[in-house]
Amino acid sequence: MKHAIKYAVSHMLYAVGLLQLWQFVVLRRRAVILMYHRVLTPEQMCRSGSHPAIMVDCETFAEQMAVVKRRFKVLSIEEFADRMERKSPFESSSCLITFDDGWQDNFTNALPVLRRYELPALVFLPVNFIGRNRLFWQEALVHLLVLAVRTVRREPAREVRIREALDPIGLAEVLDLNDSDPRSRIIETISRNRAGLTPSLVDTALANLRSEFGVENGDVEGTDSFMNWEQIAEMSRHGIAFGGHGSEHRLLSEMPIEEAREDIRMSKEVFDVRCKGMFPTFSYPRGYWTPQVAESVRAAGFRLAFLAKGGSVSCEDDPFTIRRVNICQAATESMPMFLARVVGLF
Ligand SMILES: [Zn+2]
Repeated sequence: MKHAIKYAVSHMLYAVGLLQLWQFVVLRRRAVILMYHRVLTPEQMCRSGSHPAIMVDCETFAEQMAVVKRRFKVLSIEEFADRMERKSPFESSSCLITFDDGWQDNFTNALPVLRRYELPALVFLPVNFIGRNRLFWQEALVHLLVLAVRTVRREPAREVRIREALDPIGLAEVLDLNDSDPRSRIIETISRNRAGLTPSLVDTALANLRSEFGVENGDVEGTDSFMNWEQIAEMSRHGIAFGGHGSEHRLLSEMPIEEAREDIRMSKEVFDVRCKGMFPTFSYPRGYWTPQVAESVRAAGFRLAFLAKGGSVSCEDDPFTIRRVNICQAATESMPMFLARVVGLF
């Protein structure tokens, strides 16, 4: 559905009170789990290599937390897990706030808002990226492609070599972009071609580009970096809990099960050391799972696991395929749109 229609419908339903009534009906004795990734200032959004589907603006996030505080019963992970394990129905309109990936902005931008409203939250960490100078391949590729486009414009003589560097991933088309700021179109191009971007092809292309430009990536300001363990310890002192999100953030259903098992096992090992005493939860990277992957997560010692698929949750649901609602800027920029999304209308 077009954005303008969603906007109009949700505002109309809110104005006549139907959205509030719908929340009362669909969240009766149920919980909704919000899935955030990144909370960014408008300037950071313009510099980031992340896809818009995983971002909200700081101001929008603060408004959403105010609404959540007012209209929902926000649970800590222990309270949520207790209901799931005892199969005891949730209080109506229960809510769990989650974040995937452990981005740096969770600490700088989201934590102050969570503290202001005294809200608990749960952050899932891909442990091999925490406190290390590594980016996810998507963001690294975006920054290096932006660098490639700018370099070719400035030094046309380098075009042939740069095209060769991009050959393995078939994305040389980005060099033909003539936008003044090619970043958003590069992000869209990567997202459209994702199916063909296997880990080994991406690794080769990244290595080619890094040696061509002599940089690790072009994320000069560190906009797309992750938190370190000190920041995580600081967040946990303010009521924020942490869970596993794999070691390498690879799609667990797309790799041989033995490798997936190892990735999950290592993530649990780090969780046990760094998150001592916390309830063991897991979120499948990008929501990719199979029954075998879920079984490996359970066998590793995690007790609840979360998907990236929308919908509300009953205490009777399978504890290893718990649904979450993705919150991003475009779909939830106003309060009625946010509510419409949370109650499963859009
Ligand atoms: Zn993730």
